Amino acid sequence: MDFKPVVEAFEQMEQTSSRLALTEFLVALLKKTPPVMIDKVTYLIQGKLYPDYEGIELGVAEKMVIRAIASSSGKDQPQIERIYQKTGDLGDAAGEAMKPKGQSTLFSEPMTVERVYSTFDRVARTAGSGSQETKLRLISSLLNDATVAEGRYIIKFVMGQLRLGIADYTVLDALAVAFTGDKANRQVLENAYNVSSDLGTVAKLVATKGLEAVRSIKITLFKPIRPMLAERITTSEEALERMEGKAAVEYKLDGERVQLHKGKNTVELFSRRLEKITSHYPDLEGAVKSIESEVILEGEVVAINSQTGEYLPFQELMHRRRKYGVEEAMENYPVAMNFFDVLYVDGKSKMELTYMERRKLLKKIIAGVKNDKVRLIEQTIATKPEEIDRFMAAAIENGCEGVMIKQMSSSYRAGARGYAWVKLKREYSNDLADTLDLVIVGALHGRGRRAGKYGALLLAAYDQKADMFQSVTKVGTGFTDVHLEQFYKELEQHVINRRHPRVETGMDMDAWFEPKMVIEVIASEITLSPSHAAALNALRPGYGLALRFPKFTGKIRDDKKPEDATSTEEIVTMYKRQLKVAGPSRTGAEEEG
Ligand code: ATP
Repeated sequence: MDFKPVVEAFEQMEQTSSRLALTEFLVALLKKTPPVMIDKVTYLIQGKLYPDYEGIELGVAEKMVIRAIASSSGKDQPQIERIYQKTGDLGDAAGEAMKPKGQSTLFSEPMTVERVYSTFDRVARTAGSGSQETKLRLISSLLNDATVAEGRYIIKFVMGQLRLGIADYTVLDALAVAFTGDKANRQVLENAYNVSSDLGTVAKLVATKGLEAVRSIKITLFKPIRPMLAERITTSEEALERMEGKAAVEYKLDGERVQLHKGKNTVELFSRRLEKITSHYPDLEGAVKSIESEVILEGEVVAINSQTGEYLPFQELMHRRRKYGVEEAMENYPVAMNFFDVLYVDGKSKMELTYMERRKLLKKIIAGVKNDKVRLIEQTIATKPEEIDRFMAAAIENGCEGVMIKQMSSSYRAGARGYAWVKLKREYSNDLADTLDLVIVGALHGRGRRAGKYGALLLAAYDQKADMFQSVTKVGTGFTDVHLEQFYKELEQHVINRRHPRVETGMDMDAWFEPKMVIEVIASEITLSPSHAAALNALRPGYGLALRFPKFTGKIRDDKKPEDATSTEEIVTMYKRQLKVAGPSRTGAEEEG
């Protein structure tokens, strides 16, 4: 397949701010793509070579890319650096530098998607000493034969700067339209994606074998399953109402959710966002070796105080996220894995079993492990609100965030947030019963003490139906100087020159970002707002919802993808709940966020 139509589609997509148009361009591109190439094109449009869980990155140093552009364009490196400074994007700089070049030369090899993909793949797989030089040669070989437009996107891809804003859900919509002619079939594709976490494979299957083949995709070892998530509630009474009077109540530990895949001789750990994090926890890898079966289990990894054995807060786990000195970190920051679910045993899915059946199975699997790093999460069965409250008090005393309450008869619903699991958290000092995890999408420049940094950040919630990030507040409190510095640096990588196509807001900002970073905030209440876009028109025409008196809690949720942020639907529920408690008079308050 020629690379040209792909590049043309990239150009169209880059220039649109409309989600609908984005999906249409995508459908057109998928229809043009030979079925055997669909998986590769699916990965490429998302700036990847493989599904995220493979953890394969190109690993190219910026200065190498500058050298490659210099050698292909016949300009020297300082010239390229000057253009780069002007454009702020190395892909655009490459396009600019290569301009006089026009079309590729007469004797060049044809630029096909196969060639581009396999070259990128070789770049990613080249490691060890001298690898940067090899990577440089591979990238140059492409650039030498590329047109200006092709060169621009090759470099954007290599630098991880292909910012087309195409989320998983948009790809699923486009696949349903392109290969089944009906957007409603997206649900079948989504189910397959939920148990495989691999859009490329789902795409290729629907393109080559049709919808029935997609239905038969099964849970497999070493392909992470998208996690089942919980709704929030505010009282134990409500929990029992939702659970028909009887429920399993568990400690809600404040750690990192981990999905363990254990084969005969191999162990992999996946994070909540389904990235491989095995290397963070070599001690856990060792601890689960004695499990006899091949299994997929879920649990919460928590830092523990080595002196007292008590649980420590989430932030302590940060010490484990490092490339070097893992041995030392293991000693100084010990952890334990607290299992709460089993999804697969010896070739068979267990997701269809009821929660209590899964718990029984899990208990049996763990019983044989003689290692204090492997634990079964504390559980009780409750039929009265007082029982939940007492268990909750014990949980909090033991360093937990609250409790998880689970429907005993429910199957495991991959990728879904629902009331089969609910979370009840400790009262915060603020009025809302829970924190919110929101995506940074814009900022205002700081003044005075904050000059040269950002003074306030524009935060957005995620609208699942529209697949958009909708602003819900501006936050300027709760930041230490260290945070301000850190945010400025991290956000620099995501700066774009206008509002991102997946962001909706009525606010004017000094800076805009790709929706990437998720942070946790608390707020005093939710109010109707004429300037924020979250849940716009859902409660009153022309109004969205906004947070009043928001404050950053100090937690950067890098275990969450932007699509895992608090949803606008959840915010609507929180708003309505607040009405019930306080009466309608509270909602008239002006938006402050
Ligand atoms: P939060 O921000 O409240 O942690 P979340 O969006 O990360 O929520 P939720 O599904 O809303 O995820 O809350 C469940 C999370 O709580 C799980 O992802 C997991 O990390 C953690 N957790 C702690 N204890 C348990 C437990 N016993 N069962 C399930 N999840 C648990």
